[in-house]
Amino acid sequence: MSAIEVAGLTVRLDGTLIVDGVDLAVAEGEWVTVIGPNGAGKSTALRAIGGLLPFGGTIRWHGRAVDKLHRRERAKAVATVLQSPVVPPGMRVFDYVLLGRTPYVPPLGRESAADLAVADDVLAALDLAPFAGRRLDTLSGGERQRVFLARALAQGAGILLLDEPTSALDIGHQQEVLELVDRLRAERGLTVLATMHDLSTAGEYADRIVLLAGGRVVAAGTPAEVLTEGNLAEHYRVKVRIIDGDRGPLVVPVRG
Ligand code: ADP
Ligand code: MG
Repeated sequence: MSAIEVAGLTVRLDGTLIVDGVDLAVAEGEWVTVIGPNGAGKSTALRAIGGLLPFGGTIRWHGRAVDKLHRRERAKAVATVLQSPVVPPGMRVFDYVLLGRTPYVPPLGRESAADLAVADDVLAALDLAPFAGRRLDTLSGGERQRVFLARALAQGAGILLLDEPTSALDIGHQQEVLELVDRLRAERGLTVLATMHDLSTAGEYADRIVLLAGGRVVAAGTPAEVLTEGNLAEHYRVKVRIIDGDRGPLVVPVRG
């Protein structure tokens, strides 16, 4: 059974069809990355797959239809890191990470000692323990991105949805965050569905890539199958050279 199974997914925003019949499956423990030009519908599709937007078609997580699950069950199954998460002003790192435990806190109850311990563990795993008492708005972009991941991991979900997790980071911090996600995927058996801007990086970390354009899947397969000069010329209108990298094709834009 796939961890994520999407069939005939459609999403309308203000009456406009933004996601137009997407089929997609992610196996347990797999990392799939969605690429595509600006406005292709990547973020919209990801938010729908995370159960955060009304949609048409079917979305199943571990075989269960998303729209049949209650809020708490959803949050226990899937954790989503949006591109620019809204952070309550003045909030401290520990309290923000603890928000990940909300689905486990009984109505009108408080976080248990076990919830606090999970937050501590996640902070330690992401080298964030020294930041626990810091206000989020005092962190660097890379540190804040790790905190967003920490909140998602504290949720204890097996499926992680990441919308351009590295777009605000320099290449060093990009690599650090993606290596971290990959290590956690191995250690915790997580399934990862991400969107990503940088094509070479997308190819290095994903098992499979889905190319979205105009709300439709126009190519899907291994990085080598999808990251071709032809696909990128057609859908990004760019001339590229593809170089064989150690971990997948490297995409270099060249002047036409
Ligand atoms: P991507 O993440 O691939 O860049 P998005 O999913 O963010 O694309 O957006 C896809 C398209 O949906 C864009 O053309 C965007 O302008 C449009 N869009 C986003 N929000 C709305 C909205 N509320 N109403 C109508 N169109 C929207
Ligand atoms: Mg986007």
